[in-house]
Amino acid sequence: MSKFYSVAIDGPSGAGKSTIAKMCAEKFGFLYVDTGAIYRSVGVAVRNAGLGSKDEAGVISMLPSIEIAMRHDENGLQRMILNDKDVTNEIRLPEISIYASDVSAMPAVRSFLLEKQREFAKTSNVIMDGRDIGTVVLPDADVKIFLTATSEERALRRFEELQLRGTKTTYDEVLRDITYRDMNDSTRAAAPLRPAEGAVILDTTGNTLTQSFEMICVLIEEKMSR
Ligand code: C5P
Repeated sequence: MSKFYSVAIDGPSGAGKSTIAKMCAEKFGFLYVDTGAIYRSVGVAVRNAGLGSKDEAGVISMLPSIEIAMRHDENGLQRMILNDKDVTNEIRLPEISIYASDVSAMPAVRSFLLEKQREFAKTSNVIMDGRDIGTVVLPDADVKIFLTATSEERALRRFEELQLRGTKTTYDEVLRDITYRDMNDSTRAAAPLRPAEGAVILDTTGNTLTQSFEMICVLIEEKMSR
C-alpha cells in the first residue's frame, strides 16, 4: 500500500499559513490545498443566493446545489470553481471573509466539505492549511503545525497583502475583521480553532517569512528522513 505524506498547518487568519504552505509545497513537490478557499467558495454561493451569512436554514437548504471544484493552473495557482464559474478572485473580497467565517461555524457545512478535503490526501502527498486540519480533517497527518502571531502583526501582514492586490481597505478594518474571525473560529462548537494534539506551535511574531519557512522545512525534512 502506498503511503502519502501529509502536512497540516492550522492557525488564525493572517498567520502566514498559505504563503508558507505554498512555498513548502513547491520545495517538496507536494500538492497544496488551501481549505479556507473551499469555505470561501461556499461563502460566495451563499452571498450570491442573496442569503445572510448566518441564515443556517437557508444555507443548509442550498448545500445540495453547491458544486465546488479545485484545479491548479499552469503557474501552480489553486483556482476555485463554483458551479462551473471561476471564483478565484471573488473569494478574496473582504466581505467574503465574514461569509466564510459565519458559514464555516455551521456543522452541516463542515460535514459537507469534510470528505472533499480528505480525498486530496488519499492520492497525493499534501500540505493542507486551515483551522481544523490537524484536529479533524487529517488527525493522522505526519507533521502538524499551529502557526500563529499577535493579531496586530497578522492584521498588518494581511493589510499589506490586500494593498498589493489593489483591494481598498484600511489597517483598522483588517484588524477588526481578524479579531471577529479569531473569536468566531475559536469559540464555535463545530471544529473550533485550536492546536491539534502533537502539533508544533510556532509563534511567528517578529519573524521574517524566510525564518518561519525554514523552521517548517526542518520539521518536514525530519519527518521524511525517518
Ligand atoms: O484561511 P481563510 O482565512 O481563507 O479562511 C476563511 C474562513 O474559513 C476562516 O475564517 C474560517 O472561519 C474558515 N475555515 C475553517 N476551516 C478551515 C479553513 C477555513 O473554518 N479548515
